[in-house]
Amino acid sequence: MRIGIIGAGQLGQMLGYAARDLGVECCFLDPSDAPPAADCGEVIQRPFDDADALASLAAECDVITYEFENVPVAALHRIEGKVPVYPPAAALRHAQDRLDEKRLFDQLDIPLPGYRTVDTRKDILDAIDDLGLPVVIKTRRLGYDGKGQSVIRTLDDVDEAWKALGGSPLIAEQWVSFDYEVSAIGARNVDGDIVIYPLSRNVHEDGILRTSCSPVDAARLADRAETYVRRLLGHLNYVGVLALELFVCDDDLMANEFAPRVHNSGHWTIEGSATSQFENHLRAVLNRPLGSTKSLGHAGMVNLIGTIPDTARALKHGVLHDYGKAPRPGRKLGHITVTAESAAERDAFVDIIRRNVT
Ligand code: AMP
Repeated sequence: MRIGIIGAGQLGQMLGYAARDLGVECCFLDPSDAPPAADCGEVIQRPFDDADALASLAAECDVITYEFENVPVAALHRIEGKVPVYPPAAALRHAQDRLDEKRLFDQLDIPLPGYRTVDTRKDILDAIDDLGLPVVIKTRRLGYDGKGQSVIRTLDDVDEAWKALGGSPLIAEQWVSFDYEVSAIGARNVDGDIVIYPLSRNVHEDGILRTSCSPVDAARLADRAETYVRRLLGHLNYVGVLALELFVCDDDLMANEFAPRVHNSGHWTIEGSATSQFENHLRAVLNRPLGSTKSLGHAGMVNLIGTIPDTARALKHGVLHDYGKAPRPGRKLGHITVTAESAAERDAFVDIIRRNVT
């Protein structure tokens, strides 16, 4: 069995390690030199939309998947008649355009912050009239880790936001003063079986995920989040792992965005769950029975961003994952996962790691 993976970054690498354990061979398509997943299988070093490279990936693999959401949808369409491609292109299309994504949430009755389409400076002023301040202006496409966003707190910020982002299709979104953020990760296989992981509680700084801890002591929220994930998975006839990010406000949930792929907020599942999100993604796309999502204690994950200090290698508690990437400010280079007997112990470990390593 051979699986083709578009993208060979750290998510591809972790999929590759899971594939090795399942006895599945991987072949990656990625334009970069020496990407993290290079130690997990052959890498076809070509652009993601290279017709010949896609054709040979389709010819050599039993199924194709992808590990990041900026894969051109046209690339999937090019190969989907020749080989099964999961998650389906429609899921990728919705996730690539924040307006499409929000309309999908609306259609599926998944609550979300108010939003408006923005194509002109006047649209920003109209959106502020409708939504109130603050609002956040986001590019509809290609935003990640807080990039392509500008928060407008007073009318004086409008010009700066328009100068930074005007020219691209945009949306304005109500700024939510959330209590905290969570993500719900689910997997669906070709037969339509679904498993859902316990919620992760996530902390972002400057738009970048810093820590994820699971489980979250909020059964009612977990049930509701599971309902929303099941709705998305069913509606999209989805195959693979999907992550839904949500704001928690006054004991209610509002959807922020979904990712049609394995997700950073699920990295703790490698050590902290009976089956990792990576293994379940592979099981889903290979149409194998999905593995248990039972937690093995209380897990916490700390991202290593920009640099991996020596202290990270000297930790008594925690498993270090070094993706082998060159250091660069703002770049995710690795993560550390801890598992503990109690939430309090887990939180104490996460705190120590954050103070000593990041
Ligand atoms: P995003 O790229 O849209 O996921 O945004 C990255 C992070 O920015 C989120 O995880 C939040 O921490 C913050 N953020 C984004 N949109 C909003 C919003 N409407 N209200 C409050 N915080 C937000």
